[in-house]
Amino acid sequence: MPHPGSLLGIEALTDQAIASILSSARQLELAGAHPALAGRRIALLFYEPSTRTRVSFEMAAKALGATTYLVLAAASSIEKGESLLDTALTLCAMGAEAIVIRHPSSGAPHFLSRYVDVPIINAGDGMHEHPSQALLDAFTILEIRQRIAGLKIAVIGDIYHSRVARSDIHLLSRLGAEIVLCGPPELAPDVAVTLRPGLRLTRNADEAVRDADIIMLLRVQKERFGGLPLFVERYIAEFQMTPQRLAKARPDALVMHPGPMVRGMELTDAVADGARSLVLRQVRNGVAVRMAILRRAFGDVN
Ligand code: ASP
Repeated sequence: MPHPGSLLGIEALTDQAIASILSSARQLELAGAHPALAGRRIALLFYEPSTRTRVSFEMAAKALGATTYLVLAAASSIEKGESLLDTALTLCAMGAEAIVIRHPSSGAPHFLSRYVDVPIINAGDGMHEHPSQALLDAFTILEIRQRIAGLKIAVIGDIYHSRVARSDIHLLSRLGAEIVLCGPPELAPDVAVTLRPGLRLTRNADEAVRDADIIMLLRVQKERFGGLPLFVERYIAEFQMTPQRLAKARPDALVMHPGPMVRGMELTDAVADGARSLVLRQVRNGVAVRMAILRRAFGDVN
């Protein structure tokens, strides 16, 4: 049994846990720093590059008074061949009371949670889930629109390789959004609609965007192809978010992207920097949402 404070994915979260994390994040955002986890020790174990997720988990832990220990695969004994489990057990033996992990293998946090008796927080596992990103995306939409139920959300891009897509689709459809998936067959295969009941898929970005309230863009995960895919030009022509394409959405439609954005690929500068872009607000909200996730990990709420 995973530790009850673990966050392995959106699928395993109860509705009550989702509501509680979102409301706790709201309170923490208003209150700012809060020494709820003073003296606690949190290991950040990153086997893949990260900017936003790593820094915001670190800022969240520190805002709660906890101490963090950062272990990067490239600069640790992992390079020498140490197994994931041995690394985690080593960190726990040194006093880590929770582990935030990012790993290229889908299921790595679930594996750890079976053998390690501390909360495991999934900070992105392979092509599987990125639950803290989905929670901060939901938090950001709620902050601006006050609801998710009934909104039309177009999810455009590399759905197949994206753990953000999977977590967002699970969470936002559970919260009542109407979700339309869109991308070329290489990135958005027909089978993607089986992720959840009620999903639609179109290959036409103009159609996906029509009347959308939210346009959720995804990065083409070139590291999971082993190189840039061959269809870059076609992707740009057919799926890139441009001001012209955005004009087909609702006049108050908002653009989201989990970052890192690849400007000129998924979107143009005008869209990335435009008044409707929520990208930096998503990043800012990530800290409060991760504070709520860490408090829950230590049983401080829920
Ligand atoms: N930062 C997100 C992730 O780690 C999205 C991305 O990399 O495209 O999954």
